[in-house]
Amino acid sequence: MIDDKNIFKTPISEYGEFGIIKHLTKNFEIRSPFTVKGIGDDASVSDPKNKKVLLSSDILIENVHFNLAYTPLKHLGYKVVIAGISDIIAMNASPQQILISIGVSNRFPVEALDEIYNGIHIACKHYNIDLIGGDTVSSNSGLVLNVTAVGFADENEIVYRKGAQPNDLLIVSGDLGGAYFGLQVLERENVAYKSNPNLQPDLSEYSYILERQLKPEARTDIKNLLKDMDIHPTSMIDISDGLASEILHLSDQSNVGFSLYEEKIPIDNQVITTAEEFGINPITGILNGGEDYELLFTLPITETDKIKHNPNFSIIGHATQEIKNVLITKGNTQIIPLTAQGWEAYLNKKYTSK
Ligand code: ADP
Ligand code: MG
Repeated sequence: MIDDKNIFKTPISEYGEFGIIKHLTKNFEIRSPFTVKGIGDDASVSDPKNKKVLLSSDILIENVHFNLAYTPLKHLGYKVVIAGISDIIAMNASPQQILISIGVSNRFPVEALDEIYNGIHIACKHYNIDLIGGDTVSSNSGLVLNVTAVGFADENEIVYRKGAQPNDLLIVSGDLGGAYFGLQVLERENVAYKSNPNLQPDLSEYSYILERQLKPEARTDIKNLLKDMDIHPTSMIDISDGLASEILHLSDQSNVGFSLYEEKIPIDNQVITTAEEFGINPITGILNGGEDYELLFTLPITETDKIKHNPNFSIIGHATQEIKNVLITKGNTQIIPLTAQGWEAYLNKKYTSK
């Protein structure tokens, strides 16, 4: 953590801009068959091999999107790669390359950047992604990370947000809410630590949700899983901002509504117990939280048998002709309109930095 930075001591100025780029990127190998030239010239060069090229950018800003009081720098590097490639995966394409730009103040020594690039390197190896460029600039105060992800796909493989039809099934991969409730635990421990730095909390009972928040994974496996099942989604999106706003995006682009069933939403037991501890309804966290990096997609109802017993997926609702998005609570007791609170909460600043 950043508190450990008294053991990091080399100022970035000792390397200079040219030196620091070389130093940070020296261990990155080229793996992708699409990369002709990676880092080291004015621009990278790719060979699209007759495929369509997909590009997506994300920006992470200190004290808005992450808090260094409890985010290890290595994990931050890993997570920025995940945030980038998840958008390419959500198009049913194969992520191959990333560019990472970094704005960094002189409060960060070289060893801190090493940690970030260590995390980026581990993610690149794990997901077979090439780091093919970026930019390095100084920032007045905080740390800013930008990732641009590059993917390739055959035209007929690409899945857009538009395409859902009335009566289509609404399906989600994995389980939801872990990243949000992991964040709640980290925020609480951060406050407790400030009032008593000698506290050594035992967080083992939260291991799954802390991992979902600090070291999320991208669902690169889903594209092949669906292909093997002979399934082609009619629409798809990744869950980075909370289930409610992602459903509203699919609704908006596809011109359909969605009925979401509370009792069908996949939730890990640790999410349920932690939500209880915080006095928050787990569904509220799932609808408005985010960063689970699971995939949300639609399928024609005729595909039900292919997917209903697959443990990787849950059918959580269906599309409707009427453009109305609702949550149907357990036991069909209430019908609640879905709103994009995740996004509003995000605008109101996601984390408290004090
Ligand atoms: P220019 O001044 O022409 O923009 P730079 O000196 O900034 O070029 O970059 C030189 C090379 O290093 C380029 O290939 C660029 O993409 C790469 N690069 C610069 N910063 C980073 C970074 N933070 N991570 C990865 N590659 C980087
Ligand atoms: Mg140049």
